[in-house]
Amino acid sequence: MSRDPGRPASERDGSRPTPERDGDAAPLLSVRDLRTQFPTVEGTVRAVDGVSFDVYPGETVCLVGESGSGKTVACESIARLVDPPGEVVDGEVRFDDRDLLACAERDLRAVRGDRIAYVFQDPQRSLDPVYTVGEQVTEAVGYHRDVDGAAARERAVDLLDRVGLPNPAARADEYPHQLSGGMKQRVAIATALAGDPDLLIADEPTTALDVTIQAQILDLFADLGDEEGLATLFVTHDLGVVAGIADRVVVMYAGRVMERGSVTRVFERPAHPYIRGLLDSLPGRGGERIGGEPPDPLDPPAGCRFHPRCPHAVGECRSGDGPPLHGVDGGGEAACVFHDGVRDSTVVEAGPEPRSERDPTHDADTSTCGADGGPR
Ligand code: SF4
Repeated sequence: MSRDPGRPASERDGSRPTPERDGDAAPLLSVRDLRTQFPTVEGTVRAVDGVSFDVYPGETVCLVGESGSGKTVACESIARLVDPPGEVVDGEVRFDDRDLLACAERDLRAVRGDRIAYVFQDPQRSLDPVYTVGEQVTEAVGYHRDVDGAAARERAVDLLDRVGLPNPAARADEYPHQLSGGMKQRVAIATALAGDPDLLIADEPTTALDVTIQAQILDLFADLGDEEGLATLFVTHDLGVVAGIADRVVVMYAGRVMERGSVTRVFERPAHPYIRGLLDSLPGRGGERIGGEPPDPLDPPAGCRFHPRCPHAVGECRSGDGPPLHGVDGGGEAACVFHDGVRDSTVVEAGPEPRSERDPTHDADTSTCGADGGPR
């Protein structure tokens, strides 16, 4: 499969089908009202402040937002990987009907790696420079499977082959510093796959790579979803990447969800001024970059956190705890007091076109969102 994340869907091969889902299918991962805070000498940073979203089996959900929006902390909070003094202070993370925030550390270790695996932006974070990549993947296989050294090594070479490492048997005997950045990321992905996870959480895994290698790694993620039914939560700030890989999108700003929905609906009919501004400012769209800067995380504004930068802000946007998520036409939700009126009057005709038409019916349930209050 070839994939250029910056090109419209009509110009791509379009071969990846929308994941088939039963209408009553339960989400694999359900995050509700997640709140993660960092105490500092100057005050408390509410990095994630009431975030809710779902990931269904076999789909790719992109968590998108500017630097500092809380998307990485949200992902780390899922498997309780937030480094102290950061702390998940509230919420629920249901995975396979178990609340990961409430279960014992021993039970959580059985989930990490086996059921939920992480891929980070910098593959060096996953690779040890003093061991060959083959030894490291073999060790990961042995950790997750009851196999001996030879069988584990064979499985490791299979995994390296699966992720597209050229000449995997020979490359397995090389050290990380002997591999290119793209190859190291493939090895990191192979290590993540060692436990046959159901959910891959990938945090900006292509940001450090050049454009050609980035496209290859995105193809690999798409193939893993298509061929192995792997669900992926993909963190990125790059809307081109979102267009190329996402089934659904969760847009974050200042620790809260601004909009959720199918990638098709969000890109073609963005309901929230923030995502509309991001799409408008893409090259070739003729729009202007969103003015201003994201708020101080120690002192976010009252009301809608986007209001100091929003051209549509009115009085009610500047007080209270901000609008909850409202259901919007076409599926999904947006946290804007004018979510319907603004969208209707300034609808964006098209962003970087998403890769396929997708069923928006599995956007998180609005009533659920209403129950937990959405981004407060
Ligand atoms: S709630 Fe108000 S300030 Fe926030 S995005 Fe909507 S119109 Fe703009």
